[in-house]
Amino acid sequence: MGFVKKFIVGVTGGIGSGKSTVAGMFARLGAGVVDTDAISHQLTAPGGEAIPAIREKFGEAFLNADGSLNRTAMRDFVFNHPPARKQLEAIMHGRIRETVHKALDSAVEPYVLLVVPLLIEVGSYRPVLSRVLVVDCDEELQLERACLRPGMTLNAVRGIMAAQTDRKTRLRVADDVIENNGDLTSLEQSVQALDQQYRAMVVQSVA
Ligand code: ATP
Repeated sequence: MGFVKKFIVGVTGGIGSGKSTVAGMFARLGAGVVDTDAISHQLTAPGGEAIPAIREKFGEAFLNADGSLNRTAMRDFVFNHPPARKQLEAIMHGRIRETVHKALDSAVEPYVLLVVPLLIEVGSYRPVLSRVLVVDCDEELQLERACLRPGMTLNAVRGIMAAQTDRKTRLRVADDVIENNGDLTSLEQSVQALDQQYRAMVVQSVA
């Protein structure tokens, strides 16, 4: 049996655009999902692989009582201290990549979504991707939805949006776009249509 390249769809979009919701809908249709944010959370959970290095570089002040990363404290700190951001990235990136590659290698689904919020900014995942799917929505909605997350404020979301790649640039890189300006039912319909397209592409790519 010859080597068959996996069909991997990179999913990206601005904060609160609906990446996780879309990924969940694809997963229910049978796609594999590898989520770099979820991996980052696992690595920084109590006993997580990145915790010893974070403790060593940043100290106990950035850990919660249970030994997990204090994400709010760290986010505020690195936002204002670019060298610290670099140090944190140096701790996280390699570990995230390694976990991603293991998860992609062991995926058994017909195709896999790789959710990377900073896909455009980071760029290093691009070579493994068959397609790039951008989840997009109007900025007003993005602000509103991103603020639903506990601990998020309007100002924090605005700051993150300003630091992220702008919408136009992101859309230029997209092979596929899901517009998430409607309700969850219309989102589900867009996901179903793309799932059908991806399955057809997978069949073509192995034929
Ligand atoms: P983040 O970048 O913050 O991780 P995300 O891009 O993964 O966010 P989601 O978490 O999927 O975005 O969505 C943000 C919020 O908006 C969630 O509370 C989600 O339930 C809600 N949401 C997403 N799409 C819709 C929709 N079409 N209608 C109503 N609510 C939605």
